[in-house]
Amino acid sequence: MIRKKLIIPVFISTLCFSLSCFAQTPKLLKTIIVDAGHGGSDVGAVGQYEGSLRSKEKDITLAISKKLVATLQRELPDVKTIPTRTTDIFQNVNEKARIANQYHGDLFICIHADSGPLKTARRKIGTRQVTHYKTSYTGKGKKRKKKITATKVEEPVYQYYKLPLQRSGTSVWIFASHKTSDKLKAIIDNEEDFNIEADDSLSNSVDFNSPEMKPIIAIYAKRFQLKSINMGMLVEEEIAKTGRQTYGLNQRQVGIRVLQSTNMPAILIETGFINNEEDERYLNSEKGQQELADGITEAVKRYKSIVENGNSGNKLPVKENDEKITPATEKYNSRTKNILKRIDVRQPDFKVDLYDDGDVDGDMVTVYYNGKILLSNKKLTEKALTLNLTVDPSRTENELLIYAENEGEIPPNTALMIVTEGSNRTEVRIASDEKKNGVIIFTKQ
Ligand SMILES: [Zn+2]
Repeated sequence: MIRKKLIIPVFISTLCFSLSCFAQTPKLLKTIIVDAGHGGSDVGAVGQYEGSLRSKEKDITLAISKKLVATLQRELPDVKTIPTRTTDIFQNVNEKARIANQYHGDLFICIHADSGPLKTARRKIGTRQVTHYKTSYTGKGKKRKKKITATKVEEPVYQYYKLPLQRSGTSVWIFASHKTSDKLKAIIDNEEDFNIEADDSLSNSVDFNSPEMKPIIAIYAKRFQLKSINMGMLVEEEIAKTGRQTYGLNQRQVGIRVLQSTNMPAILIETGFINNEEDERYLNSEKGQQELADGITEAVKRYKSIVENGNSGNKLPVKENDEKITPATEKYNSRTKNILKRIDVRQPDFKVDLYDDGDVDGDMVTVYYNGKILLSNKKLTEKALTLNLTVDPSRTENELLIYAENEGEIPPNTALMIVTEGSNRTEVRIASDEKKNGVIIFTKQ
C-alpha cells in the first residue's frame, strides 16, 4: 500500500520521461477466471426458431465453462482456474467483474452464445369463411340511399413461425479503448521495458476519477488490451482449426462492460449462434462443448508460454494492429462504394449515432472506419449505436463505411446516421444493399 502511494506521484511527474519505475520481470500466468455468461433470471439468448431445442444461453455457457475449467485444471495444474459460477445463479456484470478482481485474475475469459434477428415465415393451414360487407350509395340529394351488400368469401388461415438463423460460427471480442489511443501508443512504443500489471498499483486507495489518474488508467487499459488482442487471436486460431466458421477478433467501439470492469486482460467468446440449427445442436452436445473447451485451453497454453517466456509485451507475436484483428476485408472490398455524403468537420473528435431508419425490421450492419472494423453484425434499432470517432490527421479523407449484413424484412438496409461535432448536427440517410456499401467521407480543413 505504501509503495503504491509513493509510486503514483513519482509516476505522474516522470510520465513524459520514463516509465521504467514500473518495469518488472515478466508476469506469470497464475490465475485464470472463467465466466459462464448470464445465469439465473438472466437467461441470455434463447433458441426460438421452429424445431429449436429451446436452449437457453445461460445453460450452454455454464456447460462449456465447466468443461473449460476442468480441462484447464487438468492441462495446467499449476495455474489456478476459478469459475465465476458453477450453478444456475444470477450475477450482474459488476458481480462477475468483482469476483475476477478479488481473485487477482491474470486472464479473464467470458463464455457466451450469440443470437440474431429471426425471420418470420407463414404456412397455410386451412381456410375459413368470412363475410365481407360493401357499402354503396344510390341516388342523389334527398333520394340518396345507402346500400350494404354482404359477400361470403373463403380466406386462407396461416400459421406463423420463426426460421432458423443462417449465420453460424464463433467470434472473439476484446474491449475498446479508443479513447486511450495515440499519445499512449507513442509512450508504449518508445518504452521497451514497459510492463505493468494490475495488482501492483491500481488499488482502492486511489481516486480513479482524478485527472492525474486518467493517463495511468489509460496506460493500464492499453497494456491489457495488447495482451487481450494476443489471447483473442490465439483463441480464434484454435477454434478455426476445428473447422468451425470464425469471424476474426472483434473490438466493440462501444465496449463490453464486463471486459472493461476487469482489471486484467480479458476476452469474450461468442461460441456459436443459439438460433442456428447446426450451432444450437453443436453447443448442446458433449462433443461440441468439449471441442470448444479444448480449443480455448490450447490457446491459453500458447498465451501462457508467450507471456512467461521472457517476452515483454512488445515481443508478443502480434502487436496492436487493427487491420490484423479484423480479417473481414472481403466484406469491405467485395461491394462497390456508394459515397452518400461528404462532411467537413471542424473538430477532430465527432460522434456518430446509427439508428434503423423507418421501420425497425432487423437490419444488421458491419461498420468500418478507415478500413478498420468498428461494429460487427450489429442490429439497428430505434436505440442509437454510438461511435466516437477521431479524424486521422494523416489522411485527407476519413471513410465511414456501412456494410449491410442483411436487408431486414423491408429491403434495402436503411440506417439513419446523426453526426454530432460540437454544436453541429448532420443527418444522413444511408441505404446499403448486397451490391453497394454506403460511404460517408469526413474531412477536416
Ligand atoms: Zn451473452
